[in-house]
Amino acid sequence: MIKMQKLHIYDSLSSKLKTFSPIKKGKVGMYVCGPTVYSDVHLGNVRTFLSFDLIFRYLKYLGYQVRYVRNITDVGHLVDDIDEGEDKIGLKAKIESLEPMEIVQRYSRGFHDVMRAFNALPPSIEPTATGHIIEQIEIAKKLLKTGFAYEANGSVYFDVVHYNKNNSYGELSGRNIDDLIHGSRALDGQSDKHSPLDFAIWKKASKEHIMRWPSPWSDGFPGWHLECSAMSAKYLGNCFDIHGGGMDLKFPHHECEIAQNNGANGKKGANNWLHTNMLTLNGKRMSKSTGNVLLPGELLSGESPHLSRSYSANSARFFIHQAHYRSILDFSDEALQAADKGFFRLKTSLDILKNRSKSGHENGSFDVKAWNASCESAMNNDFNSPKLIAILFEAVKVIQSDSKDPTILGDNGASILAKNMDIWMEDVLGLTSEYQGDSNIYKTALESAMEIIIDARKDARDKKEWNKSDDIRKRLASGGIHLKDGADESQFSIGHDYT
Ligand code: AMP
Ligand code: ZN
Repeated sequence: MIKMQKLHIYDSLSSKLKTFSPIKKGKVGMYVCGPTVYSDVHLGNVRTFLSFDLIFRYLKYLGYQVRYVRNITDVGHLVDDIDEGEDKIGLKAKIESLEPMEIVQRYSRGFHDVMRAFNALPPSIEPTATGHIIEQIEIAKKLLKTGFAYEANGSVYFDVVHYNKNNSYGELSGRNIDDLIHGSRALDGQSDKHSPLDFAIWKKASKEHIMRWPSPWSDGFPGWHLECSAMSAKYLGNCFDIHGGGMDLKFPHHECEIAQNNGANGKKGANNWLHTNMLTLNGKRMSKSTGNVLLPGELLSGESPHLSRSYSANSARFFIHQAHYRSILDFSDEALQAADKGFFRLKTSLDILKNRSKSGHENGSFDVKAWNASCESAMNNDFNSPKLIAILFEAVKVIQSDSKDPTILGDNGASILAKNMDIWMEDVLGLTSEYQGDSNIYKTALESAMEIIIDARKDARDKKEWNKSDDIRKRLASGGIHLKDGADESQFSIGHDYT
């Protein structure tokens, strides 16, 4: 059963917050542009994929059956995102003297490892561009038939000027075709394109180009934008519910996808276009090409000049979801520290709630149902996760008050709140239940605290205050910390005492 409150989603194509109404009742089709697998994903990429993971999770929470398609771009994405030059993957393969598919496999695996580390749910289908060459050729044929594409010297290009006569190229990115023409370099006479705005649908491969397939026009490869038109249509149909990606994909990638979809079958693709904003580092966009990046591995190990310590994947997720997906988010060590503390507070509070002993008051004064509804209404407002987190912190205050006055939650309220908080934190925000804090920090803190306790106990023993020293040992043991007294010093161990 679909929960009753209405979900509103900001659609970048109409620039409107729209009431979400799926094409098929109870089902959602969502396509998200995946990574181009020629290098390690950075935290900016992770932000985008975790934002869609949150959206996927929330749609499931609402009761929808979601078909989530996230592709792997393993061909056709050329250096500098333009139509001429080397394939990003082919180039890397040449540099490393490897097969392009070795590069693809290596970085796809790396991407999956990162997604797993950050507890992102796998998509329902993860198609690759190279696995859908035939489907892409079919769309190219269709576009030639409908007159929106032309062939030149073995390549096929989309005719933007012709398309724009009855459609508006630039409608997604808010660009005007005349400005685009003025802003683009004139064709140099060597180009096969009719207009500099035209984009490649199929490219004839030069002799050096490694990745190539036969087609009716040439041995070549598909244009970057074509793969997403082909794979979204194949698995979700010509008209589906949600298409997502980072803001930087609005132009040219998604603009061209819309033109292709429209040109081939008169439908733009998705009813809702969602774009995540950028993660910045030192105020500048994290980007593979500029090298202004922080890698997930660096965050988890702490090995980076940008970091004072390591952080857990939970803290990073918490940091990401503390900002709305459409806002810019700047990465900093301080912000991560604050997120780490915030997550720890939330988690500890939930633990206190779960371990709360029965008070005998069945029902409390706090309205858990209304609280839960406010969590839903935050997420129903275009997946407002920062608002959701703020409401979770309201519960933290309630739990604190309840530990002094158990009539606030009552036994029923406490158990319902614990269940709901678990759902919001684990199922929706994707925060795993175990606290995977920076183990080194906690180890160091524990060791220094134990040094103080062991010194205090030694002091008691020196003064022959046996009751006091025994009491310290017993109290530690009840918390799972065991002391072993040696000739000169005492050692501690944690866990079961088998002695
Ligand atoms: P790419 O592999 O470069 O195609 O990027 C994969 C996804 O990450 C795309 O949806 C991009 O829009 C997104 N992305 C790239 N850089 C950032 C960034 N700094 N912050 C957020 N998302 C990004
Ligand atoms: Zn795409």
